[in-house]
Amino acid sequence: MPSSIASTPPAWHRYGMRALAAATVAGLACGLLGGAGLIGAPVPALAGAAGLFLVAGLLAWPAPRKVARPSANQFTELADAELLRAELAERLAMAQPDRPAAVITLELDGFAAIRDTLGQDGLNALVCEAAGRLRAAARGEDMVARTGLAEFVVLQRDGLQPEAAARFAGRLVHELSRPYALDGRPLICGAVAGIAVAGPGLAMEALLAQSAMALERARADGQGTARFFEAGMDTALSARHSLEGALRQAAAAEEFQLYYQPVFDLRSRRLLGFEALLRWSHPERGVVSPAEFVPLLEETGLILPVGAWVLRKACQEAARWPAPIGVAVNLSPAQFRRDEVLDAVRTALAESGLTPGRLTLEITEGLLLEHTEAVLTTLEQLHALGVEIALDDFGSGYSSLAYLWRFRFDTLKIDRAFVQELRRDGKAAAIIESIIGLGHSLDLRITAEGVETEEQLIALSGVGCDEVQGYLLGRPMPSAEAALLAEATRRPATRSAA
Ligand code: C2E
Ligand code: MG
Ligand code: MG
Repeated sequence: MPSSIASTPPAWHRYGMRALAAATVAGLACGLLGGAGLIGAPVPALAGAAGLFLVAGLLAWPAPRKVARPSANQFTELADAELLRAELAERLAMAQPDRPAAVITLELDGFAAIRDTLGQDGLNALVCEAAGRLRAAARGEDMVARTGLAEFVVLQRDGLQPEAAARFAGRLVHELSRPYALDGRPLICGAVAGIAVAGPGLAMEALLAQSAMALERARADGQGTARFFEAGMDTALSARHSLEGALRQAAAAEEFQLYYQPVFDLRSRRLLGFEALLRWSHPERGVVSPAEFVPLLEETGLILPVGAWVLRKACQEAARWPAPIGVAVNLSPAQFRRDEVLDAVRTALAESGLTPGRLTLEITEGLLLEHTEAVLTTLEQLHALGVEIALDDFGSGYSSLAYLWRFRFDTLKIDRAFVQELRRDGKAAAIIESIIGLGHSLDLRITAEGVETEEQLIALSGVGCDEVQGYLLGRPMPSAEAALLAEATRRPATRSAA
């Protein structure tokens, strides 16, 4: 229950008991939508909060105010940002140093995708249900506010910090992560939390900002995570923001480059094609690894224009190589979300004139975990264009056999982690052998990635692997070098005569 009233009436109490009535009505409405089931995402370790303390809370929101309220808050009946600030200022002024307040900022995950699927009504119902869960989890002296579309702030009145805030944030994340039932349909929606604890001399705005920074960190760490603000986070975040700014500029100025890594037929050692790998040469940072910036491109949505550029560029390049040498392009889940990938592939093929069969699209299992039906449909449509589809990094994630059954991939790429354990670890060899056996029985070609030694090559040959790629055979190279390699393999006789 949301609501015993604090002995010292908090600021929100001034808004009167009507708040409670409104909250109860909203709570009942939300209750109708209440989902069953438990579970909830695991809440990983809460990072330490040296010298910081916090309070979380719940605010049932009251009577209509003078200004028009955003319509969504009519559903949740929670406090808004303005009221949150007023309450926090009051609490900070009255706080006892040994029992500081904590600010917990929470966010529902995958909100945009949910809005696309469920529409505005579904969204309101979800937010309403989430608000009800937070209310129910909070004590009367705590305050719950809604500060964004899918963002809530809970002020924990006091406690022995940081333990109290850690426990409370974990519970809130768990509550928000329990399955929802909207319109009778189950829905899983993760949550993350950022925590900041009040401390001597820490101003209110700084405390809120710390909680928001901790949330950003939790978001980067993944679903189910709650993180405390830590010293240095602001520096790390500003570095990240500057990288993001530079990336936006790079995308606008088309500062990216593609490198190409050769893929060979294992038995004949013939060049089959190249995998296109994105590179960013920054004047000061040097060559930045895609592992560092692709996730940021995904988060900022820049992956859409950049991904379309990669497709166009790779197809143009490949069209100049002798057939049947092909090119493989990596696709991000984000490119599938807006259905843009089909158009991007069509355009790239049409502009370059590349035969569709010479283009392979590499996707990872992560893509298949979300929106499976929609993704499978898009993959079928891509297949219908005549392009090949490869499942990349197989073995590194869930490796669900259901995907192999539901969609007919052309190629399975074994993750390099297995390949690199090949010599030392008998288990890795057994796993690779069974992946190959399974793949072959489904008529798939198998590519091993990350081949670095002759031993690995021999072992792969022994277990019937079809294709290989790795530093031993060729590192990713600029397009001019790739073109030379492609030309050379087309004319072996000319080459040996020269
Ligand atoms: P990936 O698709 O699995 O690409 C293979 C990665 O393994 C490449 O790293 C490649 O340079 C590296 N590699 C190849 N052979 C060896 C080897 O023998 N040993 C070792 N240790 N590494 C090897 P890279 O280029 O840093 O790319 C990393 C990841 O970034 C790629 O993994 C891919 O997931 C992503 N990526 C690269 N280009 C693009 C792109 O254009 N679009 C998208 N969405 N993702 C991309
Ligand atoms: Mg790949
Ligand atoms: Mg890979």
